[in-house]
Amino acid sequence: MSRLLHGNSLIPPGLKVEEVSVGTGVLLVSARLLAISAPCPSCGNPSARLHNRYQRKIADLPTAGRRVSICLTVRRFRCVAPACRTRIFAERLDQSTARRYGRRTNRLDCIVHQLGLALGGRPGQGFARRLMVPVSNDTLLRVVRRRTRLATDPLTVIGIDDWAFRRNHSYGSIVCDLERRRIVALLPDREVATIERWLAVRPEIRIIARDRGGGYGEAYGASAVMSSASARVPSTSGCPSSTNSG
Ligand SMILES: [Zn+2]
Repeated sequence: MSRLLHGNSLIPPGLKVEEVSVGTGVLLVSARLLAISAPCPSCGNPSARLHNRYQRKIADLPTAGRRVSICLTVRRFRCVAPACRTRIFAERLDQSTARRYGRRTNRLDCIVHQLGLALGGRPGQGFARRLMVPVSNDTLLRVVRRRTRLATDPLTVIGIDDWAFRRNHSYGSIVCDLERRRIVALLPDREVATIERWLAVRPEIRIIARDRGGGYGEAYGASAVMSSASARVPSTSGCPSSTNSG
């Protein structure tokens, strides 16, 4: 059975579209959260006692050749629990929709992240603009770095390869956790000393996958001696899902 496309289905779940207007190259979507009340971040008690509202802009995935800007009305509530020290708090978006102070939805942030990984800073910026995602090269690199800062589990199997901050001009090294398939570090260059230093303080790493270039092999050899991690096993398969040099 055919169904009409509803405006709410175009933006992340949990939001309700109130108005859509078309600007120059941009679709402006006025929206609010669906929930009637919100839990106090301190005591957890839900409150529907409205204090005031403010507007927050969040960029979302482009549509029909236009950027999409969600103008979200955020409510501030009064906490009604007598013993709670928080008097006024703002309702929060679900973490799967956007970060607390984020200017992009997570699904757009994910696209920016992938562009940054695939193309690096400046080429990624040009391509992103063609996709109606106007982000600067600095933003692309910042998103890649932010999403790299998740490493908490012990690293045992990694891949190291080149990574272009700016293609043909500035290269660093990317380190991936091959067991969890995620990036764990972006090193500022490809120097043997830099990689040696990084490996030396991580003796728990047992297997290092790298390409056949000499630098990474040298760094591996030196760090194994420095950390007495003689069981480290070098491999010559790279970290293909995230490299962009060449
Ligand atoms: Zn409270």
